[in-house]
Amino acid sequence: MVKVKHYTLGNSVPCDTIFPMSEAHIYLDHAATTPVEPAVLEAMLPYFSDTFGNPSSVHRFGQHAERAVESSRRAVAEILNCEPAEIIFTGCGSESDNLALRGAAFAAREARGANHIITTPVEHDAVLQTARQLAERHGFDLTLLPVDRYGCVSPEDVERAIRPDTAVISVIYANNEVGTVNSIAEIGAVAQAHEIPFHTDAVQAGSQLDLDIGTLNVDLMALGAHKFYGPKGVGALYVRRGSRLLPAQTGGSHERGLRAGTQNVPYIVGFAQALSLTAETRAHYNSHYRSLRDRLIEGVLESIPDGQLTGHPTDRLPNHASFAFLGVDGNELLMHLDLAGIACSSGSACKTGDPEPSNVLLAMGLSPEWALGSLRVTVGRRTTEAEIDRLLEVLPGLVDKLRSLRSSS
Ligand SMILES: *Cc1c(COP(=O)(O)O)cnc(C)c1O
Repeated sequence: MVKVKHYTLGNSVPCDTIFPMSEAHIYLDHAATTPVEPAVLEAMLPYFSDTFGNPSSVHRFGQHAERAVESSRRAVAEILNCEPAEIIFTGCGSESDNLALRGAAFAAREARGANHIITTPVEHDAVLQTARQLAERHGFDLTLLPVDRYGCVSPEDVERAIRPDTAVISVIYANNEVGTVNSIAEIGAVAQAHEIPFHTDAVQAGSQLDLDIGTLNVDLMALGAHKFYGPKGVGALYVRRGSRLLPAQTGGSHERGLRAGTQNVPYIVGFAQALSLTAETRAHYNSHYRSLRDRLIEGVLESIPDGQLTGHPTDRLPNHASFAFLGVDGNELLMHLDLAGIACSSGSACKTGDPEPSNVLLAMGLSPEWALGSLRVTVGRRTTEAEIDRLLEVLPGLVDKLRSLRSSS
């Protein structure tokens, strides 16, 4: 008999023995990730071990798996109002951004000698570091567009930056750090008029904003499931029919030859299920988010001196509140909030532990002193008014304490 050893990981380790927690664990970091919705998990489960075939196989095991992938693709295409063949499944939002930017840049260089990339200083690193690598290692010229004090990109600035040799333009749809929503349709119209491929990183926008390709004027659009209550480790890239992309990963002809690798069937099913649920419930949850967010913003600005809202006051994600407090170390504030049982972020999740002020806030014109004291609070489907009120109860005292510790040292 084979003895099976069961491992317990993550949350099944009794956390209290490591981190003493107060009775309330309040999660207000939904821009970093969201839990998998039970209905999504349920839809995924049969595809791990029952319908386990390789979608590329000829036999019926393969056909069943392929059917699941293709019906997921149709479901996603319906929500994006595009053709199923225009949806490429990838391994995450970052990979979708990489494929879009690198793929479009190299294809445009090959086709017409294009050598110039336009993007913004407020992109997620998945775009920004890809653009930087293309500039530093592959000889592309890089233009980083200016942004205003809210982190908005203006279509006029995009137009001014376009050159005859521009290969690709990439502008984030909704900023993960400050929640600001860009006028993607207008920027896309500018790119279209100049026949330059236009990519938008919609990974953060996907949970709350309209994803209708018919109105967005984009050629490429990145999504990631774990930002909208789907699993981590699966993304999609919308690729407009006729777009030229050099594949980022070579091998088999999966995903129209743009992304080699046997499809992760259960995760693709989870992606589609999560996006469908999100589309169905979007209006409902957005109004839930807005009322919590506005309660929070009002409460914070009222109770904490030398604090400001960062990002656009109205053109921002419904679930997103972000602040800067003068004379506070954002990371210290996060640790103290965590000890008080409340999980927030100081910017993008990847930057936690990094004492540098956020580049996004600096690009928006905040001084380093202000930018170091950033706090991001993002509410979710199950966030309650009581949880917001608990944060409002705790936060002013913590900010005060950190300020007085600093001035006395
Ligand atoms: C989370 C995020 C990404 C990265 O997505 P992953 O699926 O985690 O790789 C890219 N862009 C934005 C705006 C994001 O919020």
